[in-house]
Amino acid sequence: TFKAILVSRDAEKKQSVAMTDLTEADLMEGDVTVAVEATTVNYKDGLAISGKAPVIRRWPLVPGIDFAGTVISSSHADWRKGDKVILNGWGVGETHFGAYAERARVKGDWLVPLPQGMSPHDAMAIGTAGYTAMLCVIALERHGIVPDRGPVVVTGAAGGVGSVAVSILSSLGYHVIASTGRSAESPYLIDLGAAEVISRDELAQPAKPLAKERWAGGVDAVGSHTLANVLSMTSYGGAVAACGLAGGMDLPASVAPFILRGVCLLGIDSVMAPKAVRMEAWRRIGMDLDLQKLASLSTTIGFDGIIDAAHDIVEGKIRGRVVVDM
Ligand code: NAP
Repeated sequence: TFKAILVSRDAEKKQSVAMTDLTEADLMEGDVTVAVEATTVNYKDGLAISGKAPVIRRWPLVPGIDFAGTVISSSHADWRKGDKVILNGWGVGETHFGAYAERARVKGDWLVPLPQGMSPHDAMAIGTAGYTAMLCVIALERHGIVPDRGPVVVTGAAGGVGSVAVSILSSLGYHVIASTGRSAESPYLIDLGAAEVISRDELAQPAKPLAKERWAGGVDAVGSHTLANVLSMTSYGGAVAACGLAGGMDLPASVAPFILRGVCLLGIDSVMAPKAVRMEAWRRIGMDLDLQKLASLSTTIGFDGIIDAAHDIVEGKIRGRVVVDM
């Protein structure tokens, strides 16, 4: 047997979470079995475990959308026993048994190789949040938002996506404006490379159609009024990569930034991103993310700490990234 977290629902659809023991026979279908060595707690995992949003769509379920580990057995042509692998998304931890167990069985097509020189712990300090931050940066670059174009804003900056985005953008030479609701985290954000820290409140009011141009681009993990304000403050021809909803799923904005300033809104999805896109993001992370900064933005917990961390993250209490060492 191996230990796992299982989320169940009773006849009244009331959700409960328990630590349990499973056997390999309990795992779902897949052609690769992995010994999970490290995992993490993302915002989505917090929503799943707390039940605050309908992330889980199969009951009962082992949650956890990210893991890194070693292949134990495989009938997939790309993977052999002993290979080091990463998994992010693909419905794992939503509809397929996920990362919060010592064993996972998944489709080999979902796995990417652990990059050379990176440990499972490092890979989970990055996790879906960090890989999504990289997807946002790549999207901005493709749109021509290079450091010379002007500052870039990162919202939810002290969170997981935000912290990694601040680190990568500053390493690439951007002037990063970090927006946070936690002013006490200013020194942390400056340490990660932010040039300026602004208060979340500046972006939380209902947005004007257009406001003073403040940045050439942005990475938004918050949504709602925050994203509307980021758009209205983006300079002519700029672009904003939207990946999150920590402040709400709505978008109370006007079309003015799009039709009067040619601003573009770039949608970012990590869950179903094709393999080539993932491989490129992980390759770029290997190049552009300073491992020392990565260590400073992550904290490590044990398997027993997952459920508490899941509740903390939806309350906005987690700084940076949380790594779970199995
Ligand atoms: P996280 O660590 O909790 O970061 C979210 C941050 O947003 C918080 O740390 C906080 O930053 C800010 N925030 C929280 N509540 C807020 C509120 N009510 N109003 C304004 N700001 C608020 O979560 P994460 O794992 O980085 O994920 C961030 C978001 O991206 C989530 O919505 C997640 O679902 C989404 N996401 C999407 C994808 C995708 O594929 N599109 C992938 C990964 C994550 P401050 O304290 O600094 O203000």
